[in-house]
Amino acid sequence: MSQESELPAREGMDYDVVIVGAGPSGLAAAIRLKQLDEGLSVVVVEKGSVVGAHILSGAVVDPIGLDRLLPDWREDPERPLKTEVSADHFLFLGPSGGVRLPNAPMPKLMDNHGNFIGSLGATVRWLGARAEALGVEIYPGFAATEILYGDGGEVVGVATGDMGVGRDGKPKASFTRGMELRGKYVLIGEGARGSLAKQLIARFGLDAGRDPQKFGIGLKELWQVDPARFSRGLVQHSFGWPLGGGASGGSFLYHYDDNLVSVGFVVHLNYVNPTLSPFDEFQRFKTHPMIRGVFEGGKRLAYGARAISSGGWQSVPKLTFPGGALLGCSAGFVNFARIKGSHNAVLSGIQAAEAAHEALAAGRAHDELAAYEEGWRGSEIGRDLKKVRNVKPLWSKLGLGLGIGLGGLDMWTNELFGGSLFGTLKHGKPDHATLKPLSEVKPIAYPRPDGKVSFDKSSSVFLSNTNHEEDQPVHLRLRDPLTPIRDNLPRYGEPARLYCPAGVYEVVYADEARRADPRFVINAQNCVHCKTCDIKDPAANIDWTPPEGGGGPNYPDM
Ligand SMILES: Cc1cc2nc3c(=O)[nH]c(=O)nc-3n(C[C@H](O)[C@H](O)[C@H](O)COP(=O)(O)OP(=O)(O)OC[C@H]3O[C@@H](n4cnc5c(N)ncnc54)[C@H](O)[C@@H]3O)c2cc1C
Ligand code: SF4
Repeated sequence: MSQESELPAREGMDYDVVIVGAGPSGLAAAIRLKQLDEGLSVVVVEKGSVVGAHILSGAVVDPIGLDRLLPDWREDPERPLKTEVSADHFLFLGPSGGVRLPNAPMPKLMDNHGNFIGSLGATVRWLGARAEALGVEIYPGFAATEILYGDGGEVVGVATGDMGVGRDGKPKASFTRGMELRGKYVLIGEGARGSLAKQLIARFGLDAGRDPQKFGIGLKELWQVDPARFSRGLVQHSFGWPLGGGASGGSFLYHYDDNLVSVGFVVHLNYVNPTLSPFDEFQRFKTHPMIRGVFEGGKRLAYGARAISSGGWQSVPKLTFPGGALLGCSAGFVNFARIKGSHNAVLSGIQAAEAAHEALAAGRAHDELAAYEEGWRGSEIGRDLKKVRNVKPLWSKLGLGLGIGLGGLDMWTNELFGGSLFGTLKHGKPDHATLKPLSEVKPIAYPRPDGKVSFDKSSSVFLSNTNHEEDQPVHLRLRDPLTPIRDNLPRYGEPARLYCPAGVYEVVYADEARRADPRFVINAQNCVHCKTCDIKDPAANIDWTPPEGGGGPNYPDM
């Protein structure tokens, strides 16, 4: 990379509030700021080519956040969430059959009636339009790559990445210098495992005294199904098969709008077997006799993957630092038992905006938004996360049967009596530290895809419309380039080959027959920005950094 001092100075622009990420959290913050004071200057930068291009979610949306932000949203003919949940099914699957569990013993918080099914990508496009109508400046196609600090170490803005830098780090003819966006406050709404959030958490020690953040990888496809197999408003979750061997997770299947079915599978990233492939678990899941019928005769429209945070109450870092705050999934506000985070993303955007507005109105800048940090545990977000705080630790420690049973009981006691017999259980190790060596596990063999309901990785990645400028520095940075072949390959079979849902990582041999002279290859242009490698590499050796703005998936309505 060229030396910073050799490059022309960056141009800058000043705002009251700079927001990174046009997801539900960032856009909710932008809208709330303008609702509170239309004179505030607010800018949002988004690395996707358009707003929504990098958004992937279920999505069954609890409307609590939207009701608070835009109370008229249900009357808006342009609203993207038009399908209300009409049926809520839970399945427990075995290899060749399964049972539907009765709804009555389910804790009330798991009930999806009153929620809406739709595309979160479409929802943020609509939120983006609402924000622009209020005067928010939104710049899609620009990744925030650097945090700007003031003389006292406070955050004073972000810089967007330079464009037109070659693979060798040298400026090309098309070189354009990034911009400095300076703000009195900077709100970080990058979603799960944000690259700037990761730096801020480390620099300000925001995770001190908290449990490690936990994650899952969520893989999703969007299907247009045969109308005879469609049931508008049906929400279905399953657990059990195909996961085994201590791995946990489950599926979702949501029927909405006109014959659309959103199907996905979440694998918790604390799995231990390095031969597990989340992508292949997902493909295998769709072939189950109780599932495959939904997709027969249908058309797969889109594919993608994204990490989802799951540590909840115990893992939320301190939200504020001098000059800014973390929002939504950058803070880990997912209610993992409900597989929902978009409502809390919106609520956190609102809360941070209110704290920032109060500070600005008092003439403050670049200090801590203490009201936001002090308020969330007693707010709807805290109440939502606290009730389910023991579910994940119980699943992880006790396995499927006992863990799910006790987790359910714990949600009931929290709901009925406002407390838990277990207090607050701790999460185990960070997800990168959970793999066992190959010598201690039974390798998992996956069936070949049938090309009808199950597919291979390359045809799937094709459906994510992923596109990156090829002549740019590799955005997946290895702290030690020797680790993959020297350590990960003999010990774990280099698990990046399997956990990456886009086939970015490969081990190729100069002599394939003798498996001699292995080389680690990074096909960075395929990356769908899920962030799993940044989380699961056993040596924590991979840093995901933003590539040139506009690169990455182009999800239509995920
Ligand atoms: C498979 C799956 C299923 C889910 N199902 C549901 C569900 O059914 N219901 C529900 O409520 N929630 C669900 N969730 C969770 C929900 O999607 C998240 O909680 C929610 O999207 C978080 O919103 P956010 O604004 O914090 O982040 P995101 O929605 O992730 O948005 C972050 C935005 O910031 C952009 N960005 C990131 N870094 C930068 C940068 N450096 N510069 C510029 N832009 C940047 C990204 O491109 C993105 O557009 C699911 C998640 C997954 C993965
Ligand atoms: S390279 Fe990393 S971030 Fe990109 S798709 Fe693969 S696992 Fe996800």
